[in-house]
Amino acid sequence: MTQAPSPATADSAAALAAVRAEIARACRDAGRDVASVTLVAVSKTFPAEAIKPAIAAGQRVFGENRVQEAKAKWPPLMAKYQDLHPGIELHLIGPLQSNKAKEAVALFDAIHSVDRASLCEALGKEIAKQRRAPLLFAEINTGAEPQKAGVLPQDADAFLTACRETYGLTMSGLMCIPPLDEAPGPHFALTAKIAKRNGLKLLSMGMSADFATAISLGATHVRIGSAIFGGRT
Ligand SMILES: *Cc1c(COP(=O)(O)O)cnc(C)c1O
Repeated sequence: MTQAPSPATADSAAALAAVRAEIARACRDAGRDVASVTLVAVSKTFPAEAIKPAIAAGQRVFGENRVQEAKAKWPPLMAKYQDLHPGIELHLIGPLQSNKAKEAVALFDAIHSVDRASLCEALGKEIAKQRRAPLLFAEINTGAEPQKAGVLPQDADAFLTACRETYGLTMSGLMCIPPLDEAPGPHFALTAKIAKRNGLKLLSMGMSADFATAISLGATHVRIGSAIFGGRT
Protein backbone atom coordinates (compact mmCIF):
# COMPACT_ATOMS: atom_id res chain seq x y z
CA MET A 1 0.00 0.00 0.00
CA THR A 2 1.45 3.36 -0.92
CA GLN A 3 0.96 6.29 1.32
CA ALA A 4 0.29 9.77 0.05
CA PRO A 5 3.02 12.18 1.14
CA SER A 6 2.06 14.47 3.97
CA PRO A 7 1.56 18.10 2.93
CA ALA A 8 4.78 19.05 4.72
CA THR A 9 6.73 16.40 2.80
CA ALA A 10 5.33 17.48 -0.54
CA ASP A 11 5.92 21.13 0.31
CA SER A 12 9.59 20.92 1.24
CA ALA A 13 10.44 18.63 -1.67
CA ALA A 14 8.63 20.96 -4.07
CA ALA A 15 10.23 24.03 -2.53
CA LEU A 16 13.65 22.41 -2.83
CA ALA A 17 13.01 21.68 -6.53
CA ALA A 18 11.92 25.29 -7.07
CA VAL A 19 15.05 26.61 -5.36
CA ARG A 20 17.24 24.33 -7.45
CA ALA A 21 15.53 25.59 -10.60
CA GLU A 22 16.16 29.19 -9.51
CA ILE A 23 19.82 28.42 -8.86
CA ALA A 24 20.10 26.85 -12.32
CA ARG A 25 18.46 29.88 -13.89
CA ALA A 26 20.76 32.28 -12.03
CA CYS A 27 23.77 30.24 -13.18
CA ARG A 28 22.58 30.35 -16.80
CA ASP A 29 22.04 34.11 -16.59
CA ALA A 30 25.55 34.54 -15.18
CA GLY A 31 27.13 32.16 -17.70
CA ARG A 32 28.19 29.86 -14.90
CA ASP A 33 28.18 26.08 -14.57
CA VAL A 34 25.44 25.00 -12.16
CA ALA A 35 27.94 22.58 -10.60
CA SER A 36 29.96 25.58 -9.40
CA VAL A 37 27.27 26.49 -6.86
CA THR A 38 26.62 24.37 -3.76
CA LEU A 39 23.21 24.64 -2.16
CA VAL A 40 23.52 24.61 1.62
CA ALA A 41 20.01 23.82 2.88
CA VAL A 42 19.72 25.66 6.19
CA SER A 43 17.75 23.37 8.50
CA LYS A 44 18.26 25.32 11.76
CA THR A 45 15.23 25.19 14.08
CA PHE A 46 13.60 22.45 11.98
CA PRO A 47 13.26 18.94 13.43
CA ALA A 48 14.55 15.77 11.80
CA GLU A 49 11.08 15.00 10.47
CA ALA A 50 11.13 18.15 8.37
CA ILE A 51 14.64 17.41 7.08
CA LYS A 52 14.03 13.82 5.94
CA PRO A 53 12.01 14.75 2.82
CA ALA A 54 14.86 16.99 1.67
CA ILE A 55 17.35 14.14 2.09
CA ALA A 56 14.99 11.80 0.24
CA ALA A 57 14.77 14.39 -2.55
CA GLY A 58 18.53 14.27 -2.99
CA GLN A 59 19.75 17.19 -0.89
CA ARG A 60 23.10 16.37 0.70
CA VAL A 61 24.56 19.60 2.13
CA PHE A 62 22.88 21.10 5.19
CA GLY A 63 23.57 24.16 7.30
CA GLU A 64 23.05 24.65 11.02
CA ASN A 65 23.84 27.72 13.10
CA ARG A 66 24.25 26.18 16.57
CA VAL A 67 26.65 23.44 17.59
CA GLN A 68 24.40 22.01 20.31
CA GLU A 69 21.35 21.82 18.07
CA ALA A 70 23.33 20.18 15.27
CA LYS A 71 24.91 17.71 17.66
CA ALA A 72 21.53 16.57 18.92
CA LYS A 73 19.88 16.40 15.52
CA TRP A 74 22.38 15.19 12.93
CA PRO A 75 24.35 12.15 14.15
CA PRO A 76 21.15 10.07 14.45
CA LEU A 77 19.97 11.27 11.02
CA MET A 78 23.32 10.49 9.43
CA ALA A 79 23.43 7.05 11.04
CA LYS A 80 19.97 6.33 9.74
CA TYR A 81 20.67 7.45 6.19
CA GLN A 82 24.28 6.51 5.62
CA ASP A 83 23.31 3.42 3.60
CA LEU A 84 20.33 4.73 1.66
CA HIS A 85 21.52 8.31 1.12
CA PRO A 86 25.26 8.50 1.79
CA GLY A 87 27.39 11.59 1.57
CA ILE A 88 25.53 14.02 3.81
CA GLU A 89 27.63 17.10 4.63
CA LEU A 90 27.05 19.42 7.54
CA HIS A 91 28.08 23.08 7.50
CA LEU A 92 28.23 25.42 10.50
CA ILE A 93 26.98 28.83 9.40
CA GLY A 94 26.48 30.53 12.78
CA PRO A 95 28.92 32.03 15.28
CA LEU A 96 31.30 29.62 16.98
CA GLN A 97 32.65 29.98 20.52
CA SER A 98 36.27 28.90 20.95
CA ASN A 99 35.29 26.45 23.67
CA LYS A 100 33.12 24.59 21.14
CA ALA A 101 35.89 24.28 18.54
CA LYS A 102 36.48 20.65 19.48
CA GLU A 103 32.87 19.65 18.90
CA ALA A 104 32.64 21.77 15.75
CA VAL A 105 35.72 20.20 14.15
CA ALA A 106 34.38 16.73 14.97
CA LEU A 107 30.90 17.35 13.58
CA PHE A 108 31.11 19.79 10.67
CA ASP A 109 32.52 19.48 7.15
CA ALA A 110 32.71 23.26 6.78
CA ILE A 111 32.78 26.24 9.14
CA HIS A 112 31.58 29.51 7.59
CA SER A 113 32.14 31.77 10.59
CA VAL A 114 35.87 32.02 11.32
CA ASP A 115 36.23 35.58 12.58
CA ARG A 116 38.80 36.07 15.33
CA ALA A 117 42.24 35.07 16.50
CA SER A 118 41.14 33.13 19.60
CA LEU A 119 38.88 30.95 17.45
CA CYS A 120 41.65 30.42 14.87
CA GLU A 121 43.94 29.24 17.60
CA ALA A 122 41.36 26.80 18.98
CA LEU A 123 40.52 25.50 15.50
CA GLY A 124 44.18 25.05 14.59
CA LYS A 125 44.75 22.89 17.67
CA GLU A 126 41.67 20.74 17.09
CA ILE A 127 42.32 20.26 13.39
CA ALA A 128 45.82 19.01 14.20
CA LYS A 129 44.62 16.82 17.06
CA GLN A 130 41.61 15.29 15.31
CA ARG A 131 43.25 15.09 11.86
CA ARG A 132 40.08 16.43 10.38
CA ALA A 133 40.08 19.49 8.16
CA PRO A 134 36.72 21.13 7.63
CA LEU A 135 36.55 23.75 4.87
CA LEU A 136 37.10 27.12 6.52
CA PHE A 137 35.50 30.40 5.51
CA ALA A 138 36.36 33.74 7.14
CA GLU A 139 33.27 35.79 7.87
CA ILE A 140 33.48 39.40 6.73
CA ASN A 141 31.26 42.01 8.36
CA THR A 142 30.89 43.96 5.11
CA GLY A 143 28.39 46.40 6.58
CA ALA A 144 30.57 47.05 9.65
CA GLU A 145 27.49 46.39 11.78
CA PRO A 146 28.35 46.51 15.48
CA GLN A 147 25.88 43.74 16.43
CA LYS A 148 27.18 41.37 13.78
CA ALA A 149 30.07 38.92 13.90
CA GLY A 150 32.82 39.01 11.31
CA VAL A 151 36.07 40.71 10.44
CA LEU A 152 35.88 44.29 9.22
CA PRO A 153 36.73 44.63 5.51
CA GLN A 154 39.79 46.78 6.24
CA ASP A 155 41.13 44.11 8.61
CA ALA A 156 40.46 41.16 6.32
CA ASP A 157 43.85 40.89 4.58
CA ALA A 158 45.79 40.95 7.85
CA PHE A 159 43.35 38.48 9.43
CA LEU A 160 43.70 36.03 6.54
CA THR A 161 47.49 36.27 6.71
CA ALA A 162 47.36 35.53 10.46
CA CYS A 163 45.01 32.56 9.85
CA ARG A 164 47.59 31.03 7.56
CA GLU A 165 50.89 32.09 9.05
CA THR A 166 50.18 32.29 12.78
CA TYR A 167 47.56 29.56 13.19
CA GLY A 168 48.44 27.27 10.29
CA LEU A 169 44.89 27.21 8.96
CA THR A 170 44.08 26.48 5.34
CA MET A 171 41.42 29.03 4.51
CA SER A 172 39.15 28.21 1.57
CA GLY A 173 36.87 31.19 1.25
CA LEU A 174 34.88 34.08 2.65
CA MET A 175 31.36 34.41 3.95
CA CYS A 176 29.16 37.49 4.39
CA ILE A 177 25.67 38.42 5.54
CA PRO A 178 24.71 41.81 4.09
CA PRO A 179 22.80 44.28 6.28
CA LEU A 180 19.05 43.64 6.13
CA ASP A 181 18.17 47.15 5.03
CA GLU A 182 20.68 47.54 2.20
CA ALA A 183 20.97 46.26 -1.35
CA PRO A 184 23.10 43.10 -1.05
CA GLY A 185 24.97 43.44 -4.35
CA PRO A 186 27.74 45.80 -3.18
CA HIS A 187 28.35 43.61 -0.12
CA PHE A 188 28.70 40.50 -2.28
CA ALA A 189 30.98 42.36 -4.69
CA LEU A 190 33.20 43.58 -1.84
CA THR A 191 33.44 40.05 -0.42
CA ALA A 192 34.37 38.69 -3.86
CA LYS A 193 37.04 41.37 -4.26
CA ILE A 194 38.64 40.60 -0.88
CA ALA A 195 38.61 36.87 -1.71
CA LYS A 196 40.21 37.42 -5.08
CA ARG A 197 43.09 39.49 -3.81
CA ASN A 198 43.75 36.89 -1.11
CA GLY A 199 43.66 33.95 -3.50
CA LEU A 200 40.51 32.40 -2.01
CA LYS A 201 38.20 30.50 -4.35
CA LEU A 202 35.04 29.94 -2.31
CA LEU A 203 32.34 32.50 -1.57
CA SER A 204 29.55 31.70 0.90
CA MET A 205 26.97 34.33 0.15
CA GLY A 206 23.29 34.57 -0.67
CA MET A 207 20.25 33.52 1.38
CA SER A 208 16.58 32.94 0.48
CA ALA A 209 15.96 36.54 -0.51
CA ASP A 210 19.10 37.31 -2.47
CA PHE A 211 20.80 34.15 -3.74
CA ALA A 212 20.33 34.97 -7.42
CA THR A 213 22.21 38.25 -6.93
CA ALA A 214 24.90 36.42 -4.99
CA ILE A 215 25.31 33.87 -7.81
CA SER A 216 25.66 36.68 -10.34
CA LEU A 217 28.53 38.02 -8.21
CA GLY A 218 30.35 34.71 -7.84
CA ALA A 219 28.81 32.83 -4.89
CA THR A 220 29.96 29.21 -4.70
CA HIS A 221 27.84 28.38 -1.61
CA VAL A 222 24.33 29.73 -1.14
CA ARG A 223 22.78 29.26 2.32
CA ILE A 224 19.04 28.86 1.89
CA GLY A 225 16.62 28.11 4.72
CA SER A 226 13.14 29.57 4.64
CA ALA A 227 12.67 29.18 0.88
CA ILE A 228 13.03 25.42 1.39
CA PHE A 229 11.72 24.64 4.86
CA GLY A 230 9.30 27.53 5.39
CA GLY A 231 9.25 30.32 7.93
CA ARG A 232 10.96 29.94 11.29
CA THR A 233 9.08 30.81 14.47
C1 LIG B 1 19.46 31.45 8.95
C2 LIG B 1 20.63 31.74 8.09
C3 LIG B 1 20.56 31.59 6.69
C4 LIG B 1 19.30 31.19 5.95
O1 LIG B 1 18.42 32.27 5.91
P1 LIG B 1 17.07 32.22 5.03
O2 LIG B 1 16.72 33.65 4.87
O3 LIG B 1 16.08 31.44 5.82
O4 LIG B 1 17.40 31.58 3.73
C5 LIG B 1 21.71 31.82 5.97
N1 LIG B 1 22.86 32.19 6.57
C6 LIG B 1 22.96 32.34 7.90
C7 LIG B 1 24.27 32.75 8.48
C8 LIG B 1 21.85 32.12 8.70
O5 LIG B 1 21.96 32.29 10.04
